Amino acid sequence: MANSLISINAEQLVEHELLRGESPAAVEWLLDSMEERRLQSGDVLLETGEENKRFYLIFEGSVRVELEVEGKIAITELTAGGCVGELSVLDEKGSAAHVVADQPTMLMAIKREDVWRLINRSHIFARNLLHTLSSRVRNDNDSLGESLLLQRRCEESSRIDFLTGLFNRRWLDEMLPRLVERSMTGNSSMGLMLLDIDHFKNYNDSYGHLAGDEALRMVAATIINHIRPTDSAVRYGGEEFLVLLPETGKDDAVAGAERIRQAIGELSIKGEDGNRLPGISISIGVTTTNGGGQDREGIAIADRALYQAKSSGRDRVVFYNK
Ligand code: GH3
Ligand code: MG
Ligand code: MG
Repeated sequence: MANSLISINAEQLVEHELLRGESPAAVEWLLDSMEERRLQSGDVLLETGEENKRFYLIFEGSVRVELEVEGKIAITELTAGGCVGELSVLDEKGSAAHVVADQPTMLMAIKREDVWRLINRSHIFARNLLHTLSSRVRNDNDSLGESLLLQRRCEESSRIDFLTGLFNRRWLDEMLPRLVERSMTGNSSMGLMLLDIDHFKNYNDSYGHLAGDEALRMVAATIINHIRPTDSAVRYGGEEFLVLLPETGKDDAVAGAERIRQAIGELSIKGEDGNRLPGISISIGVTTTNGGGQDREGIAIADRALYQAKSSGRDRVVFYNK
């Protein structure tokens, strides 16, 4: 006898994607124990973590599946022909997501024990269910891949200075101990340069902050163009830069700093109106470290050399070895 509490018959039931291909006679028994659910837009079907004993076939409308991570994040929409609640029915754990109707929606609920009965009796249902589960796993893998990529991009960009494209202090904090340790284990000397633009406050005051920014970008590009791929340039402060030169001794470090100083002195910087501005100069403190002492000791020595370069007239390179 037909179940008068539901509005579909066996022919309509086998039109659903999960039963497509099955004969109506083979699912007749299911009609007796099925329940029809009608939801209005905004009605909640499943709450995250709550026990769920029903597998729902969607016949009309659509539901939104939301993950609850610091608030709700919609992950997918399921429409007529789809199903929902399968995970919690199969693994007997709480509902994996929050499911809410997007519009007036009609679903047929199959009880957990009947889902297993159906799997045992209908190969077609079992195959369709496996197909649905595999495409969900595939979609989840794709989204996982995308979000890991996004996460990697975010992590990378959080170590890059936005204005100049050089590494930032965060990168330095993470990498300096490793670089120092590497030079210590390799028993090689590491060169360090601390560079500071001369009278840059005046430059900003005279030609504007945008021209100052342009000068900073050009200085950064000049530094990058004069160092090796194995060297690293960091924006250390507003108009201060740090260059780390693995496996570099005093002579090469000083000669490299001298080339950078000269190239920066020859830069042609454009002002906000497009006109050429007076050039800038830079002072550089240089040192080398053999990895002894603290990670920051080399920077402190380069800073003292820089101070000496400033106080003895700027636009010059000074080397200190301790
Ligand atoms: P000194 O030769 O002794 O180094 O003098 P200085 O004027 O360069 O040094 P000071 O530390 O007094 O000024 C640094 C200036 O750098 C102050 C600030 O206007 C400028 N500055 C710092 N960060 C930025 C930035 O991101 N953009 C621009 N346009 N200017 C910056
Ligand atoms: Mg400074
Ligand atoms: Mg300065």
